[in-house]
Amino acid sequence: MILIDGKKAAAELRAELREEVAELKSKHNKVPGLTVILIGDLTPSQIYVRNKEKSANEVGLKSEVIKYPDSVEEKTVLEKIQELNSDETVSGILVQLPLPKHIDKQKVIEAIVPSKDVDGFHPMNVGNLSSGYESSIPCTPLGCYLLIKKIEPNLSGKKAVVVGRSNLNGKPMTQLLLKENCTVTITHSKTKDLKAECLEADIIVAAVGIPELVRGDWVKKDAIVIDVGINKTDNGIVGDVHFDEVSKNAKALTPVPGGVGPMTIACLLKNTIDCFKRSQI
Ligand code: NAD
Repeated sequence: MILIDGKKAAAELRAELREEVAELKSKHNKVPGLTVILIGDLTPSQIYVRNKEKSANEVGLKSEVIKYPDSVEEKTVLEKIQELNSDETVSGILVQLPLPKHIDKQKVIEAIVPSKDVDGFHPMNVGNLSSGYESSIPCTPLGCYLLIKKIEPNLSGKKAVVVGRSNLNGKPMTQLLLKENCTVTITHSKTKDLKAECLEADIIVAAVGIPELVRGDWVKKDAIVIDVGINKTDNGIVGDVHFDEVSKNAKALTPVPGGVGPMTIACLLKNTIDCFKRSQI
């Protein structure tokens, strides 16, 4: 079984991006800039944002974090986004989720100009992705896609099952696999026989949030299995896939941690650079 090393793949991607940033700098005499807005003091969000900033600096991006207290008014955040939308030194804007209850998430997502939407959540980017046009692609499914392509460059005709239909993961993942000519089944909490669906799959991407949901006897021999889940349990962090069981059957499997997670931030940097490149045309 191939253990898909997300840490290594992310380090390789960051190295490529570092070179790309250096080239862009010599060509345009400026570097792509990423601005993250962090609201409140949730510990996981603070850790994510710190890691994003560190990785952005590592590849040579200009990086800025704007912090607001939990009590900040929605209007203040929307005005700041407008200001960043027209700031030429800012290539990408990310508002760290989740937001406090009094702030409308959809309003915030839609306030970011699509050309700087590095999360790929703006409806315009969602539409572009589903129409097969160029767009920012949500970072986690983009990371999964790049890991799958490393194992199997030609996905044409493969049967893929995506478990979970969230806007963040399942739906964009489906679009990416469709674009590669996979035959894709998207499953969710109301799917009648999830095991039977998974048993058909050459590729399984699990993004559910239920510890070890996908079992060994759900997986065809030689399937590629990508585990997006991050679940805190009494035994530590586990994925949505039962690692020990599935590793006996699958051709390739991502571990948790050390699989999809590291790719997510690397893909955010890639999206920032891609936004910058599109803005220079
Ligand atoms: P979500 O809660 O928004 O969506 C979960 C999806 O799973 C829903 O579409 C739901 O229909 C489906 N589902 C629920 N129960 C099911 C069942 N019994 N059978 C089949 N489908 C079922 O979750 P999300 O935001 O997509 O996150 C999923 C997981 O991925 C979580 O564990 C989250 O922590 C993790 N995650 C990881 C990364 C990363 O970088 N690795 C990034 C984002 C999310």
